[in-house]
Amino acid sequence: MDRKSLIIGNWKMNLTHLEAIAVTQRLWYRLNPADFDRADVVIAPPFTCLRTLQTLILADRMPFALGAQHVHWEQDGAFTGEVSAGMLVKLDVGYVIVGHSERRAMFGEADELVRKRVRSVLSAGMTPVVCVGETVSQRESGETEMVVTTQLRGALRRLTAQQRADVVVAYEPVWAIGTGRHASADDAGEVCELLRNTVAAMGGPDAGEAVRILYGGSVNPGNIAGFMAKTHIDGALVGGASLDPDTFAAVIRYWM
Ligand code: PEP
Repeated sequence: MDRKSLIIGNWKMNLTHLEAIAVTQRLWYRLNPADFDRADVVIAPPFTCLRTLQTLILADRMPFALGAQHVHWEQDGAFTGEVSAGMLVKLDVGYVIVGHSERRAMFGEADELVRKRVRSVLSAGMTPVVCVGETVSQRESGETEMVVTTQLRGALRRLTAQQRADVVVAYEPVWAIGTGRHASADDAGEVCELLRNTVAAMGGPDAGEAVRILYGGSVNPGNIAGFMAKTHIDGALVGGASLDPDTFAAVIRYWM
């Protein structure tokens, strides 16, 4: 099956809505239609930029998709500081990152909470980007397979086969995020194959074939091609390198 490539820029807690306009415009000028034919390109800015970028993207007909970095699982109510899937949909958000290691480590996001967020994102018609990955100590003690499959199984519990096919999975070794150290393409490819097999075991072979699996962790213009050459890697979740439009454009255009 042909799976369209997917490159997601996770801006984390960076850039004001004014800076977001400039970065998005500069990125847009550096890309051409062929880039969007090859890959879906998603910008996941802070919540405060979403409305601004929605307006910009619509007005200038930019083929970017919008992503959110977080969501609450309830539709509304007394959840101070939280944002619901329904609110994100109204801003034309198409993708929502869930289970990012920074949220798991700093905000207590356990597998059950990831699962609830996945369900609410899917119910609202958006695509969850489910992040899984091992810490350095888990890797050194040979637990990578167990950790990533447990996280993925937890996130995909009680979903239909179609829903399992519709998620995006991001393999993000924790030790590679924001550190400048990245997994080797071979290692990442093997873990992504394992994740695909896990989706297939849960949702059937069609779901396994269809699901898009990304690598994330210090992706840059110099290493992206190695990851993209792997059969089971369909794209990248890019943090630091997505903040600079020149660098992010070079990641997206790795194939040139
Ligand atoms: C991320 O934020 O998901 C990430 C992979 O960050 P970086 O590319 O900076 O390692």
